[in-house]
Amino acid sequence: MARFTELQPTDRIADWYTHNEVWEPPNMDLSHRCILRCPQCLRQDKEGGPRIKRSYDLEVKDFQKIIDYFKHCVAFCGQISDPIYNPNFLKFLKILDGTGRRVRIATCGQSVKGRHTRKWWEEAFTYGMNENAWYFGVDGIDQKSALYRIGSNFDEIWETMRLGKSMGAIIVWQYIVFGYNEHEIERAKEMAKEEGFTLLLVKTNRGFYPQERNVRDSMKDIYNNFPAPSKENTGKKIKNEEYFNVTREVETWRKTNRHL
Ligand code: SF4
Repeated sequence: MARFTELQPTDRIADWYTHNEVWEPPNMDLSHRCILRCPQCLRQDKEGGPRIKRSYDLEVKDFQKIIDYFKHCVAFCGQISDPIYNPNFLKFLKILDGTGRRVRIATCGQSVKGRHTRKWWEEAFTYGMNENAWYFGVDGIDQKSALYRIGSNFDEIWETMRLGKSMGAIIVWQYIVFGYNEHEIERAKEMAKEEGFTLLLVKTNRGFYPQERNVRDSMKDIYNNFPAPSKENTGKKIKNEEYFNVTREVETWRKTNRHL
């Protein structure tokens, strides 16, 4: 198949779209599952509850149909779920392994005891070498990350990231800037270098407004007391992304993935 083409003034828009759509990454929400309680996640909104109720674990046969159509890249970045909690996730990685697709896996990385064992992670990191990039959402340099990633354990996740790195997997440390971690950004850059992780700083323009109609009552206290970042670390758009310590592997992976 011919490659992705830029839209030309003479193109008929529908033809261009159908030709190029398969180059887009489907962003898959694989289930209704997550064990964390990040305050600004859709899961914590009033509107999140009904969506969670309607959702279910994506099955292998349906996953196969999706990737038979989208042949070039895949994003696992859920809106109401984290991909690692779909019980079929290793099977999905195995299906994608070696197919040349570029895959972005956005996860909080929090293991469920007895399920995400070291063996589970080793198998996960074995798949998609140089094809998969693991984006771990860890918003801080230590246990304070759990102020936002409520329910997470920094040390456990850090060990998992190190394991991935030691096995040759592409590891990106995604760090959302908040008031409690903005003074530690320089240290985060040093740590990323020491560990060989690429660091992705995310600055958002999302405020913590407890009066917003979609905020659940149970979240209002957290919203009221959450330390917002200073103006200089607040993004102008929904999110501004800045990469540091971009490793050669990440550079190559990103170059071949203009859509991810
Ligand atoms: S880890 Fe992701 S899916 Fe889970 S609560 Fe946080 S933002 Fe939501």
